[in-house]
Amino acid sequence: MEPAPDASYRTLAYLGEIPTDRVKGIGAVTMGKLADAGVHSVAHLLMTPPRRYLDRSQMSAIGSAPIGEEITIAGTVTSFSRRRISRGRTMVEARVSDDTGKVRCVWFNPYIKLDEGEEVALSGKLETFKGSLQMKSPDVDRLNRNTTQKTGRVVPIYPKLANLKHYEVAQAVDNAVRRSVPIVEVVPATVLDEHNLVDRTFAFTSIHLPSDLSDVPPARRRLVFDEFLRIQMALRVRAYDDYESQAGVSNSVRGVLFDRYLAALPFSLTPDQESALEAITGDMAGPAPLHRLLQGEVGSGKTVVVIAAMLTSVESGHQAAVMAPTEVLATQHYLGTERSLRVAGLAPSEFADDAMGTVSLFEDPDAPDRPVRIGLFTSSRVSVNFTAGDVSREQGLAWLADGTIDIAFGTHALIQPDVDFHSLGITVVDEQHRFGVEQRVILRDRDSAQGVPDLLLMTATPIPRTFVMALYGDLEVSTIRTLPPGRMPTTTSAVPLQGAEPAVEDAIGEAVEAGRQVFVVCPLVEPSGKIEARSAVSEFTRLSDTLPDLRVELLHGQMKAEEKAEVMEGFRVGDIDVLVATTVIEVGIDVPNATLMVVWNAERFGLSQLHQLRGRVGRGAHAGTCLLVADDSTDDATTRIEAMVATNDGFELAEVDVEVRGAGTIFGSSQSGAGDLRFGDVLRDAELIELAAGVARSAVETDRQSDFVDKIMEEVHLFVGDRESWLAKS
Ligand code: ADP
Ligand code: MG
Repeated sequence: MEPAPDASYRTLAYLGEIPTDRVKGIGAVTMGKLADAGVHSVAHLLMTPPRRYLDRSQMSAIGSAPIGEEITIAGTVTSFSRRRISRGRTMVEARVSDDTGKVRCVWFNPYIKLDEGEEVALSGKLETFKGSLQMKSPDVDRLNRNTTQKTGRVVPIYPKLANLKHYEVAQAVDNAVRRSVPIVEVVPATVLDEHNLVDRTFAFTSIHLPSDLSDVPPARRRLVFDEFLRIQMALRVRAYDDYESQAGVSNSVRGVLFDRYLAALPFSLTPDQESALEAITGDMAGPAPLHRLLQGEVGSGKTVVVIAAMLTSVESGHQAAVMAPTEVLATQHYLGTERSLRVAGLAPSEFADDAMGTVSLFEDPDAPDRPVRIGLFTSSRVSVNFTAGDVSREQGLAWLADGTIDIAFGTHALIQPDVDFHSLGITVVDEQHRFGVEQRVILRDRDSAQGVPDLLLMTATPIPRTFVMALYGDLEVSTIRTLPPGRMPTTTSAVPLQGAEPAVEDAIGEAVEAGRQVFVVCPLVEPSGKIEARSAVSEFTRLSDTLPDLRVELLHGQMKAEEKAEVMEGFRVGDIDVLVATTVIEVGIDVPNATLMVVWNAERFGLSQLHQLRGRVGRGAHAGTCLLVADDSTDDATTRIEAMVATNDGFELAEVDVEVRGAGTIFGSSQSGAGDLRFGDVLRDAELIELAAGVARSAVETDRQSDFVDKIMEEVHLFVGDRESWLAKS
């Protein structure tokens, strides 16, 4: 039998394996209740933070407390009773005494329940009633008798957990701390010193049994740091194991395709585009695979950068895959690329009589000797740019497998098990947060013999900086901040829902008169008996009626893919004036001639959605207008609409969004291990996320095999979930 580890072997990870019933006072029943609340080990008990603290030095003695002022007193309950009074109400009465006096407390709240003999703290106003001291409806904290006796003047107050009352939680945590300290430190002393972090024993002792309130902030800072360190370490280790230490596909040729494509653009790249492209192609040419996030507002010019990057892979003899969250988007990426290849003289049609292309028609000796062949794979169709009409999925797949297709665009249809690339050089995933990681892993794992393919993630959803780090801490990040020159800012106005129709029709009429096009977005596809909001179908009918001279069309997610593609194409080429749609048009649709965006029931959309919608207009030479038709019946809705009117800056809106919705909903359990945060807060503790990210990065860079990295990863498995399930969440 192995000897029981003595105190000096107590690491947090070790305590993470000790069941809670090994703590004094916790039996099978309490252990079960704790488990229901997600508290499975002694370490989890240690990681249950107090909700707040009562400072007994700030408490008044009953006998000498000032009358008529807000005070806090502590004492023992000497009697407790409840009785019915008039109109069916219940009055609860308790008498509480300390060494100096006693006070009568009354509540008209039938749910207050205290036990005789228990210790409580009461906060409220002291008054006199028939010659005695009284408090009416004071706030009451039930203290743990043992805790109050044992600790100093600071009493931690815990939240209720599952079925356990907060003083039972206090008791359990108290005993857990006492049996666990000292806790072995796993973060090197140099790191702690450099960043002014207290050690773990001090941190856990001071958060739960502070001898002085001033010990709490440094304790908390350390525990928050540890939480973020676990997340950052997991991200860095993944980045290292899966990318940085791997041999990547060599995508190093920036040749004639790349040059021709860029030269054919009717504009030059902005400095942000230049540096993003430089960083991406630099990583692609490097020994390790690219593993980068390209961030930029809608219309900031990400697509151009991505196409150029993919062409370097094609020129290096490999293929590129672009995954988009919807068929509409995949189709648009495909059509946009097809057009720009044609403009650049790189489309198969430029290579005339040999569509499969080996003969160049260019006089230029440096001209490419082959076209760029691209394909679109959705669940409903497969098209390529080198034969007319759609082809069968089998044919498309054969062309992927033998390398005929250079760049494949698609939705989930691109990652089915039957899809096989000849030599995948780079995967681009647009708006990856809409996929989840599974797909990310599947595509990544299709290693070609040449090495791990490059991975580039794109997002147009601006998220605050610290969120980027916390969510994508394993990725390098390139951000395109400035929009291409000449863009005029979109003007946004709020229109009250009541009687909005004439204003909306006027605005539409004006825009179309000027030769522009219009989006009208509704929350519903069809009218609903349950939800009071405008539907695309009814608004389409209405506008077709009231604006008979205009070409109005309908687009929503329940239409067939071909119908959708046809309508989108009609809108793109200008055959449609007004497109009445649902949020299918939310992401990425690029029609520069569209200048007016009308959103019905804007109160039903989230901020990031509204911002994405607005991004659909003002993409060309003409300024955009956005009308938010809203019933601002709730405060949150009003805040959102006001923010939209006030600013066009997506990053600013992202911050507002976090305030309105709270970090949890954005950064919730579905997003990452941060949903499990017990001490930290992604907004409040931004500085500590950065600190933890830096420490994790340098630890992995210095020595991936070090004890430090190992020990933290052990904690990751225990407290953040095992690596795979954790990654599946991010
Ligand atoms: P994103 O993919 O970031 O939404 P796009 O790449 O689709 O943005 O670009 C939006 C529009 O701006 C496109 O019409 C594109 O041709 C144009 N554009 C991109 N880069 C520039 C630039 N540097 N100067 C002028 N126009 C640009
Ligand atoms: Mg590479």
